[in-house]
Amino acid sequence: KAWVRFRHPRLIYEMVAAATQAALRRPGVMPGVEVRAEGDDRPSATTFSGVAEQVALFGDATGPGQARGLFGRVLGQVQDTFVVSTSEDEVFFLDQHVAHERVLFERLQHELREGVPAAQALLFAEPLELPPAASSLLERWREPLERLGFAFEGFGGPAIVLRAVPALLKGDEPRRLIEAAVDELAGPGADKPTLDRALAFVACRAAVKANTPLGREEMERLVAELSVTETPYFCPHGRPIVSRVSLHDIRRELKRNW
Ligand SMILES: [Zn+2]
Repeated sequence: KAWVRFRHPRLIYEMVAAATQAALRRPGVMPGVEVRAEGDDRPSATTFSGVAEQVALFGDATGPGQARGLFGRVLGQVQDTFVVSTSEDEVFFLDQHVAHERVLFERLQHELREGVPAAQALLFAEPLELPPAASSLLERWREPLERLGFAFEGFGGPAIVLRAVPALLKGDEPRRLIEAAVDELAGPGADKPTLDRALAFVACRAAVKANTPLGREEMERLVAELSVTETPYFCPHGRPIVSRVSLHDIRRELKRNW
């Protein structure tokens, strides 16, 4: 049988979407680093426990109330790139760039639902001298980009002019920003909705970079904000955000049995 028709397709769609969302929120999807015990003959010290754990698709969703404190308390930062935190049972390593990207992505999504995210008009409108191919690509993406706070003028004329950028990106050099946007949107992923891709681009561009020292308050805020996102374990491009080490494994490794 090649076709199955549902009586209430909308309902099924929503059920599947909700179940997928709930499954992606389960801590089991976090990759973990396994501490290798003496006499262990497993081939590798690294496992991805998320794969092994059976995910109950229609199991209880984690309520937003339980989400708080998903990653325990912040201990500090290592390599100016990872925020380290701990709960009673685990130590978490959060990639600060993708964590922030996820937070900004969902904030923008929320703002989009309410209207247009905050934009910053440029003091001096920026003429963009783009190659013709890039100009026509930009014209195709004008609508989703403008929904995010960009404003363009002069399509079809001699030069496209950039008049405003999303407030999140006001520190960015406008011309470089548009070149990066064209590169990103011309890249792989054309099957996904352009608005989502443009949104992910803005979030990535605005997110704190790796190799950036963070203050304690900044780390605590980032971890708290990530905890309450809808998808705290994956960035908008699908990369994992958090790796963890079990303290149970550490105790076993150190022969602390009491
Ligand atoms: Zn990124």
